[in-house]
Amino acid sequence: MKDFYTSTQWKNKRAAILSRDGYMCQRCKRYGRQREATTVHHIKHYDEYPELALDNDNLISLCEACHNFFHPEKAKKSNKSRGNHRYF
Ligand SMILES: [Zn+2]
Ligand SMILES: [Zn+2]
Repeated sequence: MKDFYTSTQWKNKRAAILSRDGYMCQRCKRYGRQREATTVHHIKHYDEYPELALDNDNLISLCEACHNFFHPEKAKKSNKSRGNHRYF
């Protein structure tokens, strides 16, 4: 399901998760920092667990820096234009 991240289903889910988390980064919060969340991350990556793609318990709001922390692979491939992770 290649276009998952562009689907209305995902956009709605993403908005719901951001709202649930108060639009704050949940990892920063754990460290006592207040930062606006800009992305919603799959705790168990979508590639491996597509069945959890819309599972609330598998989704967390993060700021960009924290999201990059969970995706060290993205830094290495940053100049690749393909990849369906951009909506995070
Ligand atoms: Zn953060
Ligand atoms: Zn992610």
